[in-house]
Order: sequence, then structure tokens, then C-alpha cells
Amino acid sequence: MNYQSIAKLFINSPKIKSFVPVQLFHQSSVVNKKKKYHDVYTTIHVHKEKMKALEARYERLDVEDRPTGCLLCPHRNPEIELDYKNVRLLSQFVSPHTGKIYGSRITGLCPNKQRELAQNIRRARKVGLMPVTMKYFDYHSDPKLF
Ligand SMILES: [Zn+2]
Repeated sequence: MNYQSIAKLFINSPKIKSFVPVQLFHQSSVVNKKKKYHDVYTTIHVHKEKMKALEARYERLDVEDRPTGCLLCPHRNPEIELDYKNVRLLSQFVSPHTGKIYGSRITGLCPNKQRELAQNIRRARKVGLMPVTMKYFDYHSDPKLF
């Protein structure tokens, strides 16, 4: 017996007829139009296709235009660690003309490392390891006295 035939019996019986609602079964229980859960295999497939497209776009670029990525991230250079005492490293990210810290557009660092770099430079300046003021550009070629 189908549930429909049972329902018909119920509906036709005179006692229950007054109590039975118009829609016995809600439509969502029969046909689930909205997907409640993600299909894992399709998501993986879509991700793979996206990565393939990205790789193809990367390969289409010239060698000079290809993005090199963040220099200070551990997957690239695990030996380099940002530290306020390592002034030689920090001074490469500061402009010799103005003393400004270069932006991430020029340094090519990821946001986390760029923030860390700026923090360390500020700390080094506070402690006195790095200069706060800069020479005039005319005196840059002066010989070093010591
Ligand atoms: Zn990074």
C-alpha cells in the first residue's frame, strides 16, 4: 500500500475529515529543491578547475611579470626571521632619501609580514639602532669615516 492510499482512507473517513489539513505532506519533505549539504566531489572538481585556470594564467605571463611572492614567508626563506636587532635586513626596506618604509606594492610582502616589518623598524628606531632622520642626498657619496 502506498502512503497516498492510506491518506485517502483517512481523508474519506468521516471522523477525521474535519481535522485533516489540505496539505498532508509539506512539499519540502518530498522534493528538496535547496541543497542543504555541499557535494564534496563537485567542490573538489571546481577547485581543481580554478587552480588549473590560475596556473594557465601564470604561465601565459612573461617571466619578468610573474609574481615572485613574499620574500620573508617561511615557505620561501625559512632562515630569515624578522628581528628589530637585524638592522641590515630592515634597512633594505627603508628609502635612503626620505627614511620612509616602502609599501607592500614595492616590497612585495604579504600583509602580515609587512605589518611585522613596520613594527620591527619602529621598534629599532625607538631603541636607537636605526636612524630616524636621514642625510641629504647630496652627502650620500661622502666617504665613510669609521
Ligand atoms: Zn609572507
